Amino acid sequence: MSRKRNKKGVIKTVIVIALSFTISLLWENRKTANSNPLIPIAPVGNPPPNLLKPPKLKTSPSPPVTEAPKPPQQPLVFAPPAQFRSQIVYKASINNSKVIALTFDDGPSPETLKILEILQKHQVVGTFFCLGANLREYPEIAKRVVQAGNAIGNHSWHHYSHNVTEKTASDEIDNTGVHIYRSTGAKSFLFRPPGGRLNNGLADYAKKKNYVVVMWSIDPKDFLQPPAAAIARSVLSQATSGAIVLLHDGGGNRQQTVEALSAIIPKLKQQGYRFVTVPQLLQMQAGQKQRIANQKSP
Ligand SMILES: [Zn+2]
Repeated sequence: MSRKRNKKGVIKTVIVIALSFTISLLWENRKTANSNPLIPIAPVGNPPPNLLKPPKLKTSPSPPVTEAPKPPQQPLVFAPPAQFRSQIVYKASINNSKVIALTFDDGPSPETLKILEILQKHQVVGTFFCLGANLREYPEIAKRVVQAGNAIGNHSWHHYSHNVTEKTASDEIDNTGVHIYRSTGAKSFLFRPPGGRLNNGLADYAKKKNYVVVMWSIDPKDFLQPPAAAIARSVLSQATSGAIVLLHDGGGNRQQTVEALSAIIPKLKQQGYRFVTVPQLLQMQAGQKQRIANQKSP
């Protein structure tokens, strides 16, 4: 009996020792984990910048910002006042102020950029009658023309001078209109007949489509590339209020035209002239007539 008891006692003792050893071991482990000198501790200071960023929250994408609804943007339209639709104009009758319209034919072309530069330098605008074939080649230049505040007009696609059928006239003018819109976002109802021809079918078709046929009152024949001084002299000697000046920004080197403009613009400004686009010029005449009509009515 006493041996059995002794055996039990020994087992108990062993269990107690084993338990207390395990507990003390666990306790030691906790202490060393908390104060292990081998674990490097980052010095206290500014954390690297990326840590300063707040964590990205994984949420559903924020709803689109709702802005105040914008009014639908009206396409830019270069059109004459109603009384000039389907009409031919050579100049405007303006008698209460000095205004003049510079027009440039046969572009857009790299030469157009030189013209734009000189117009911008003097802060004046003009009207550019473009060829469809060139619009297709230089849409960016046409865009710059309109962005700079100038008006744009239709000068047909091929610059035909021979007689054309109505079908050809429609191709020439309608397709050019499409390319004016594609390159500039503007619609134009200004037509300048190639070579100023009014009887080969193109001008008739334009009139049928409500265009104003824009001729000119001053032609210094810059397309023949005379000296700049000759171009300037021709324009300055014929300048009157309401005049429309024919110049070119395509069809060849236009250095003489550019140089002539450097003389023409400051000189006419000195004389009190303002430079306007063709639609602005026609609008002024229409407004003037309206005022006269109002004054006459009882
Ligand atoms: Zn032309």
